[in-house]
Amino acid sequence: MTRRIIWSLCALPVNWEDSGNPAACEEPVFELVFLGTSASAPSVQRGLSSALVMVNEHRFMIDCGEGTQRQLLRTGLGFRRLDKILLTHGHLDHILGLGGLASTLGRWEALEELNIFGGGMALARVQMLMDVVFGPGQTPNSGVTLNLMEAGLLFEDKQFTLTAVPVQHRGPDCFAFLFEEKERRPFLPEVAEALGIPHGPVRRDLALGIPATLPDGRVVQPEEVLGEPQRGARLFFAGDVSHTGPLHKVAEGADLLAVEATYLDADKQLAKQHGHITATAAARLARNAGVRQLVLHHVSRRYTTQQVLEEAQAIFPDTIVASDLDSFAVRKDKPVTARNLRQR
Ligand SMILES: [Zn+2]
Ligand SMILES: [Zn+2]
Repeated sequence: MTRRIIWSLCALPVNWEDSGNPAACEEPVFELVFLGTSASAPSVQRGLSSALVMVNEHRFMIDCGEGTQRQLLRTGLGFRRLDKILLTHGHLDHILGLGGLASTLGRWEALEELNIFGGGMALARVQMLMDVVFGPGQTPNSGVTLNLMEAGLLFEDKQFTLTAVPVQHRGPDCFAFLFEEKERRPFLPEVAEALGIPHGPVRRDLALGIPATLPDGRVVQPEEVLGEPQRGARLFFAGDVSHTGPLHKVAEGADLLAVEATYLDADKQLAKQHGHITATAAARLARNAGVRQLVLHHVSRRYTTQQVLEEAQAIFPDTIVASDLDSFAVRKDKPVTARNLRQR
């Protein structure tokens, strides 16, 4: 079976600080970069959990395990515009890097604003880290703001929305994140032609939803030349989870589903005990939710990458196990493209 994923031909490391978009590649809607993909403790090959989602001018860091700063440097992406950090939950393998990162940003880089979003337990722990870094009670003067996250819409701009999705793991207030390109109504050129609408600014206005007056005085409403709303690209990022059942609906039709695969099916009792899922469960979720591409992360040192990959691919062939610094570009109705950002 062929895998739909395409390792990009323009896979040269790109300095995003300078170029703003990946060289000759088409501008992606969402770019997901894994900074760390190991579960619980780092391995020689894998750092602790952290990822970046980049869309337009925005960067969202998801989790910040120990060692994340160095991983970020290895991508060449740098620290600029890093002003939003989302926490899936408060376990230490997902947050211990925040102390170091906040310290660096506070001391060496210009820290104008750093918004950390998390559930109650995660934020209580982060507050302790910030007290150590900036001094007790000094966080409000540091530029760091801790934001209590609730399920629902978290962020919105003209092109996309970001929604916090509650998930089950161990303890309360665990979240996953859904990035969705907003619906768009396509411009129908054949209808415009039939209505005698001239090419140029009039069509552009109509495509933007603005009524237009034709040279002959007729007024055309956008509804006349726009098709049915079409769903945009969807990226669903889940970290640690103990049950996939509630995720099916949210993951439905995602262009990319990223989810943990801490255990193999042979150890499913252990998985249950520790509030995690297996590669099999992740692959079933991807298959049943009809996603385009599955990317597994939060990989345990007890297995080889190949074992995790084979178990998942037996159920859902369009699976990849993320390596550190792998980057995936997600566009509506296009194959997911991947490259590795490791600087040589
Ligand atoms: Zn974890
Ligand atoms: Zn955890």
